[in-house]
Amino acid sequence: MKARLAVALAAAALLTFGAAPGALRPAAAAGASASVQRVNGVPCVAANDLSRLLDAAQFWRADVRKLVLRAGQHRVTLTADNPFVLIDDHTVRLEADVTSLGGQFQVPVSLLPQLPRDSSLARLIVDLQASRVRVAPAAGFVGTPVIRIEDGVARLTLSAERADGATVLSRGRAHLRVRVPGAFAGAAVDSFAPGPLLRAVQLVPGTDATVVDLAAGPDAQGFRLLREDGRVVVELARGGAGLERFAAEAPAGTRVVGVIVIDPGHGGSDTGVHVDQAIEKDLTLALARVLADELTHRTGARVLLTRTDDRDMSQQERAEFANRARADVVLSLHFDGLPGARVRGATAWCAPALYSEGGAGAHAAATGALTPWRDVAMHHAVDSRALADAIAGSLETRGLGPARVRERLPVALLGVNATGLSLECATLTSPEDRARVGTPEGLRELASSIADGVAGYARP
Ligand SMILES: [Zn+2]
Repeated sequence: MKARLAVALAAAALLTFGAAPGALRPAAAAGASASVQRVNGVPCVAANDLSRLLDAAQFWRADVRKLVLRAGQHRVTLTADNPFVLIDDHTVRLEADVTSLGGQFQVPVSLLPQLPRDSSLARLIVDLQASRVRVAPAAGFVGTPVIRIEDGVARLTLSAERADGATVLSRGRAHLRVRVPGAFAGAAVDSFAPGPLLRAVQLVPGTDATVVDLAAGPDAQGFRLLREDGRVVVELARGGAGLERFAAEAPAGTRVVGVIVIDPGHGGSDTGVHVDQAIEKDLTLALARVLADELTHRTGARVLLTRTDDRDMSQQERAEFANRARADVVLSLHFDGLPGARVRGATAWCAPALYSEGGAGAHAAATGALTPWRDVAMHHAVDSRALADAIAGSLETRGLGPARVRERLPVALLGVNATGLSLECATLTSPEDRARVGTPEGLRELASSIADGVAGYARP
């Protein structure tokens, strides 16, 4: 049996998101484009379009029929009916003349690869098939994945300009997710034979990153992520040195989600992260209300909030609330503040699923150790991890990522005897994230995406 990479569906999801009201354009207008037209058979771009894409100012000197484009610290001087172009202080010769057509300069696209490559100037690429010139995303491009299965190793290779930035988002066996910086620019869709090492591959293309989601088969003992020059390799292997392990999994069966406790983080004198108008304690409460609606409709569960107003609450009070309610799932809502305005996205914190397939209980029995009450959430590590994966996957496919899963028991789950996680829903120090969660539509989209994850986790 041959399987096709499932990419079309994810692409459709992306388009929907891109067209949503309030959706933000990435910085530097990545994706902006202009048409290419042929002048005497030479593909050209109009000087006005070129200025727009480079964010350049134009200066026309009629006496010498020269047009100067000034962008960042650079200047590009074009002369009518002349193939020589002055770029800063050096001259390049194009394959054909810059021509003046109907009062507008037409510039051969062979100029574009010669433009300076630095952060002050957008990088332009030519797509002759589509007859467009486009602004390349800052993180570059990711190419079509190539899959080879041989000698006990399934190997997926992706060309990527920023391969060194590839990270493992989550390490579940059913969803090993690797995030590769760069916009997906793959063309043909590869096909492969699903087998006991690799069952399926899904791509989630985004504007600044591409997520590869692999479903490992039963023969895969672990995985490796290799960041090489210009490419990322993900290997699933039967054995060998340097293999990373998959997260432990819960046995198949029902997963009842009858009672959900939502814990809006912070409150009262504890504001949490505070950037401009965005205050974490208010956002967590606003999101909790919308999320409660979504979860009630989507799962039919009884949904309770640890607080419904702006008040101080200790961790012990929050834990006691959840334990008294006999919560099946606890979601502690937070928003992040991280150094660097470019860091964005969500992080799900859950107890580490380090134990064997028998779960945390088996580990405690084997070592004879008693779990201190504070760490009781460790008993639910395997399910919590599955919940974190489901929610992170949902956020990622809706374009609300990157969504990271971190396995460390968060403070917000101390004393909580239930499956749960602490979810940093977005990063308030990122201007894009802050603008998005600052609108009712943005909060609704976030809530709906989290509810999707919970619904996907539940097995009635
Ligand atoms: Zn917080």
